[in-house]
This record gives sequence, structure tokens and C-alpha cells, in this order.
Amino acid sequence: MKILASSGTKGGVGKSTFAILLAFKLSKEKKVVFCDCDVECPNDYLILGEKLKNPEPIYQKFPTLDKEKCKKCGLCSEVCKEHAIFWVKEKYPFFIYDLCTGCGTCWLVCPNKAIKTKKKIVGGIYKNKINDNFYLITGLSKAGISETGPIVREVKERAIKFAKEKNADYLIIDTAPGTHCSVIQALLNIDKVYAVTEPTPLGSHDLGLILELAKKLKISTEIVLNKANVGNKKEIEEIAKKFGTNISIEIPYSEELINAYCNKKLEKMVKLI
Ligand code: SF4
Ligand code: SF4
Repeated sequence: MKILASSGTKGGVGKSTFAILLAFKLSKEKKVVFCDCDVECPNDYLILGEKLKNPEPIYQKFPTLDKEKCKKCGLCSEVCKEHAIFWVKEKYPFFIYDLCTGCGTCWLVCPNKAIKTKKKIVGGIYKNKINDNFYLITGLSKAGISETGPIVREVKERAIKFAKEKNADYLIIDTAPGTHCSVIQALLNIDKVYAVTEPTPLGSHDLGLILELAKKLKISTEIVLNKANVGNKKEIEEIAKKFGTNISIEIPYSEELINAYCNKKLEKMVKLI
């Protein structure tokens, strides 16, 4: 099974639309599981005209203090990179859950095993069957979760398991925009990322960021240039050259394409690009 992703640091460049069209096109001949890993704001199900129902919960561990064992040493507070543990000398540490990512460092370092864990639901996974060859997995985090990287990791792991059960040929991942932790989780150990961008100064700048990240993660890349006919393509070409990759798909800006998108006519969109 090949794992491909559509990503891009700048929002609004057509990353999700491209991911859907890629999955849709491949599903004509192959079995595809499509996974929306933009867990803070998944919207691929809307473009596909689906509804999210019956979530499978995603759990995460969070720290809780056993006061009988705690010696008030403050080491847990010292090691917490998120500043999620408030500690004053000779007092018990206090957990600020809004900042805690559940990384586990505090309960690993506590010399007195005074930090226990409790599981909380941090999100859900939804499955939709579009047709016999095309399944959609959607990850959705609960509001107020400070770090969604672990949620993306869980969504991706379950999508891979599901895709293997279905004997899928492709797992297509739609990442969040950016280069932050949840995007890194989505891109780890995949076969290829399509870096979607547009020929604008910000599009060029952000393309450099995603290609740099892909280079660090040792993932092969191709560039998808949206609205290719309405901007400065030269800058994009220079960045492609710098990173040793190429613009493999150019999507023109066209009213016909926009109309097809607005009316959810995927078949027509695939033909137009
Ligand atoms: S490291 Fe353990 S013993 Fe020290 S303050 Fe934190 S919970 Fe208490
Ligand atoms: S689990 Fe990690 S982020 Fe949360 S309080 Fe402990 S060290 Fe800090």
C-alpha cells in the first residue's frame, strides 16, 4: 500500500480539494482510503457530501497527583516544556490541563511515582463509505485541546490499520496547513507528499517551508501549482529547482472549475485539471 499526502503551509491554496480529487481519481481503478488529518477543522466530508456520525473515541492520558506519594520536590514542574505544572517550594505541584499535551515526561521523571494517569476523550474518528473503492476516515479533536499531534498520530495509525483490513492500494492523507507538530505526525513515514501551493509571494515562501520539512523527513515530493495561470510561476520554479523537485501538476484558475467545485461535481473537476 502506498501512503500519499496532500499538504501545504499556506491555507486556502486548494490542498484539501486536490487531496479529494486525487483520492477520487485513484478510486476509479484502485481501492482507496482517504484520511482527513486536519483534525482541528476537518472539512473533506463536507466537500464529499457526507455526514459525521457514530465516532470511535480517541483517548489520551493526562497526569493526576497522588499527594500521599508526592515529596514536593518540583522536578515534574522543571521538566514540563509546556509550563503546564505550577509549583511553589514546599507546596504540591498543580497541573494546568489547558496547557498539558499529555506527553508523559512528568510521570516518567517523578522519583516517587506520585503522578498517576487518567484517560480522557480528546477526539473522535469517523468512518464513511463513499463507494466500494473509496472510504473516508475523518479525525476530529475536541475543542480546547492544546496539542493535536498525538490525535493525528492515532487517527493515522487507525487509518493505516483500516486500509490494511480493506486491502487498500492507497492511503491518501489530507494534512492541516502549516509545518507544526500535527502536520509532522501526518507526514511521518509516508511515501510521497504533494506540496500544494499558488504562484503568490506567500505561496512561494510557504512552499519552501513544506519542502524543507519534507527534506528533513526524507519524503519524496511533487509540487501541485494551483491557479497556475494567474501569478509569478518563476519563483515557484526556482524553489522547485532548489529542492530538486518539480511542478508535476498545474491547475488553471477557471470559472468552470469553481462552478464544478461549488456544485460538488468531482467527476467534472477531475476532467478539468
Ligand atoms: S516530581 Fe513527583 S514528587 Fe516531585 S513534586 Fe512532582 S509529583 Fe511530587
Ligand atoms: S504530561 Fe507533559 S505536558 Fe502534561 S504536565 Fe506532564 S510534562 Fe507537562
